[in-house]
Amino acid sequence: MIIIMKPNASKEAVSRVASIVESRGLQVHLSKGDEVTIVGVVGDKSKLHGSNIEISEGVDKIVNVTESYKLVNKKFHPEDSRIPVGNTFIGPGSVTVMAGPCAIENNRQLMETAVAVKKAGATFLRGGAYKPRTSPYSFQGLEEEGLEYMKEARDATGLNVICEVTSAHAIEAAVKYVDMLQIGARNMQNFELLKEAGKSGIPVLLKRGLSATIDEWLNAAEYIISEGNPNIVLCERGIRTYETSTRNTLDISAVPVIRAKSHLPVIVDPSHATGVRAYVEPLAKAAVAVGADGLMIEVHPCPSCALSDGPQSLTFDQFRTLMDDLKPFARLVGRKL
Ligand code: PEP
Ligand code: MN
Repeated sequence: MIIIMKPNASKEAVSRVASIVESRGLQVHLSKGDEVTIVGVVGDKSKLHGSNIEISEGVDKIVNVTESYKLVNKKFHPEDSRIPVGNTFIGPGSVTVMAGPCAIENNRQLMETAVAVKKAGATFLRGGAYKPRTSPYSFQGLEEEGLEYMKEARDATGLNVICEVTSAHAIEAAVKYVDMLQIGARNMQNFELLKEAGKSGIPVLLKRGLSATIDEWLNAAEYIISEGNPNIVLCERGIRTYETSTRNTLDISAVPVIRAKSHLPVIVDPSHATGVRAYVEPLAKAAVAVGADGLMIEVHPCPSCALSDGPQSLTFDQFRTLMDDLKPFARLVGRKL
């Protein structure tokens, strides 16, 4: 439940309400907006029976939060969150572009890509060091060696860097090298991994599971935030449907739906959503137009030589053109790109 304070409620009134809640063994999450303060209550609300909290000074009304996710819920935190990551923020006002190869293959491939995507205007370099491949015989990633290349690219270009983690061991390694952890679609409901990411203390990009509903996705984010890590960004990357023309089906409606249900930023990955290079550009434009907080796009120096996801990867030239073409879309929605 949430306790909505009156617009003129004093600080003392808010603290009094918070201490009543805490004295009953419940957790308090304060959200101070320009107009009103909301006291979010996490735990078994029946413990508040008999507390008369609804008539406590400064309380306007009490609203039950019926969804099972609380801390990522918009009702708990009506203002959209801006998430600090590396040297920047992800959220309202900007379109953050994360670009790079599907997999880190060698130092030169990563460094060349980093320089090219930075020049085109990306602020994040992506690249997989731990690859959750469908087949165990496909390239599985360079692991810690790849993370070292990521850090070198970061130091050389000033880009923020993000890598997918697939195990607690990978998290332990990655926190030494990257600005943001990525939890991939296949691990969205790996609850132990989500808890470890929550404990890691660094920002997390949480991709939507292949067949996950939006509520399941938000509950997965709740696992991370409930371990004390509020720095979460969601990523829509397409879902499984009966359609086979594209690798997945981009659920563009997820952007406004997330915006309505949660305060967390949401970005879109048109590369994994489609699996087809030619569809990346139109869907990237659609994502910006619909209000996404950013994009994740696969770029490779030689897509036809790529060890993974070549068919959906853009060349450097294609990426540069895309970035230029996206600018008017960002301007239309009042965001910087
Ligand atoms: C990736 O971003 O490298 C990736 C594997 O994506 P997803 O988890 O969305 O399939
Ligand atoms: Mn990929």
